Amino acid sequence: MGIIKIKDLIFEYIRRDEEGNVEGITKAVDDVNLDIKQGDFVAILGHNGSGKSTLAKHMNAILYPSEGSVWVDGKDTQQEENIWDIRQTAGMVFQNPDNQIIGQIVEEDVGFGPENMGVETKEIWERVNESLKAVGMYEFRKSPNKLSGGQKQRVSIAGVIAMHPKCIVLDEPTAMLDPQGRKEVIRAIRALNDVEKITIILITHYMEEVIHADRVIVMDDGKLVMDGTPREIFSKVEELKSYRLDVPQVTELAYELRKAGMDLPEGILSQEEFMEYILPIF
Ligand code: ADP
Ligand code: MG
Repeated sequence: MGIIKIKDLIFEYIRRDEEGNVEGITKAVDDVNLDIKQGDFVAILGHNGSGKSTLAKHMNAILYPSEGSVWVDGKDTQQEENIWDIRQTAGMVFQNPDNQIIGQIVEEDVGFGPENMGVETKEIWERVNESLKAVGMYEFRKSPNKLSGGQKQRVSIAGVIAMHPKCIVLDEPTAMLDPQGRKEVIRAIRALNDVEKITIILITHYMEEVIHADRVIVMDDGKLVMDGTPREIFSKVEELKSYRLDVPQVTELAYELRKAGMDLPEGILSQEEFMEYILPIF
């Protein structure tokens, strides 16, 4: 069993009127099975409303299955006595850093989680420093929270890291950032995966952010519809489009050239790679 295991998961949002009668049901996750290996970097793609956030919220026991089961590090999320451990094992980072930063000074903010967990003071400071270093924000530790979006999001990631999770689930962490902020945050996330071997689950709309993932899964209408390496997934341009997703620009260009008869491999992911194949042709 991997760090996260999901079996036959169904989740329904139930809308009720004032009297409590059921007005409508949305099946947001529809029979998903998934096993995520410790240390992997997994990206989740899908059109708006495809169920990504609902699925993510099952990974740290914010939501519980309507049917089926979810285990985090072997622990069933539906057993109440596991919830504390599960939330510590799988940290969560959301879109808006402003909603996640509570403290006045950066280092206080990052220390908040471990303090809440009852970690002793000396260790809190060690964790704060190592976490801020891990996301490249150590030099800002004394700053009040007057930071750019990308810096704020890195601080909120440090706040999660300070709780020593095995896994971090990031739900569109770069959606509100400018290109520079997006780059900073993705660089920090990759370092956590490469250096600290933390399992990363990244929900994003930005295709260039998923090319470094070990595994990409695609959701559509609550279902898990594609699962593979970035290269495998981005080779299937037509299928991705059928789920209302785009491919990275350079992948699309290579795909069109290949269709037109040019001798290029499938699933080119980066400009560097594209140039490597295209230059010898000319
Ligand atoms: P995504 O993150 O891929 O955009 P969501 O998981 O947010 O998708 O939503 C999946 C489906 O569940 C959508 O149809 C959405 O409208 C519905 N949904 C999401 N949150 C709620 C909620 N709190 N109450 C009712 N329906 C919801
Ligand atoms: Mg979402």
